[in-house]
Amino acid sequence: MRAAGRSRGTLIGLLVAAVAVACATVPITGRSQVLLFSDQQVARLADQQHAKFMAAAREKGVVVTSADASDARNLDTVHAVGRRIIDAAGLASRYRWEITLLRDRTANASVLPNGKMIVHTGLLPIARNDAGLAAVLGHEVGHVIARHSAERLSQTMLAQVGVQVANAAVALYDPRYQALTGAALGLGAQYGVLLPYSRAHESEADHIGVLLMAKAGYEPAESIALWERMEERGGSRGPEWMSSHPNPGTRREQLRAWLPEARRYYENRALPLPIR
Ligand SMILES: [Zn+2]
Repeated sequence: MRAAGRSRGTLIGLLVAAVAVACATVPITGRSQVLLFSDQQVARLADQQHAKFMAAAREKGVVVTSADASDARNLDTVHAVGRRIIDAAGLASRYRWEITLLRDRTANASVLPNGKMIVHTGLLPIARNDAGLAAVLGHEVGHVIARHSAERLSQTMLAQVGVQVANAAVALYDPRYQALTGAALGLGAQYGVLLPYSRAHESEADHIGVLLMAKAGYEPAESIALWERMEERGGSRGPEWMSSHPNPGTRREQLRAWLPEARRYYENRALPLPIR
C-alpha cells in the first residue's frame, strides 16, 4: 500500500511538472495552449519540408524571381509588405522569415512554423492593394507567432495516447516517451507540418494579423474588405485558402469587433504589442 501511495505521489508530481512544462501562453492574445514541442523541433521539420517543396517548385519553374518580367514587381511588393509586417511583430531575428511568390492561379497563401511563407500569384488580384496583402501576411505571421503548428502536433499526439495525456506531457523529459514524441513529429512531417489548423487557430491568426497590419501602418478595416472580395471571388465553395477557415460572415464580424483594438496600434505605432 505504501508503495502504491508513493507511486501515486510520484505520478501527481509528474503531472504537476507536465502541466508546467506543457502550458504556454500565446503572445498578444494571451490564450493558454499545450505545447509539447520546442520551436527548434518544429523548425527542423519545417526546414526539411520547405527544402523539398522549393526543390519541386523550382523544377516546375513556378517560383517567381526578380528576373521575371511579368511578376518581378509583384515580388517586390510582397517582400516590402512582408518586411513591414515582420518588423511590426518585432520578431525579425527570431525566425528565418522568407516569402516565396509562386506562379499559380489559386488564391492561396501558407506559412511554415520556421517563418517561410508561400504566396500564390492568384491571391494578388483579391488582395488588390498593399493593405489587402498585409491582411493576408499578417494572418500567416499570426500562425507562426502563436505556434499553431506545434500546438496542432501536440494535440494530435495527446489524442493518440488518449488517457495517457499526463504521461505524454512529460515526454520531452522522459526517455520512455521519446518514441511517442518521435511518432508525432513523424506525423507532422507526413502532413507537411501544416496539419490543418482548427477554426480557433484561424480566428486567432486573424486577430493577431489585424493588429500586426495596423501596427505596420495599414488601415485595419481593409482586412474586412479583403474577406468580402474573397467571398465574392470564391462563390459557394470559396478559394482554397478559405476552405478550412471560419465562415466569412463570422470572420467579418470578429474582425469588426477587433477594429477598435487594432486602431490603437494604427494611430500610435509606437504602442508595443504584448509579445512575451
Ligand atoms: Zn490560416
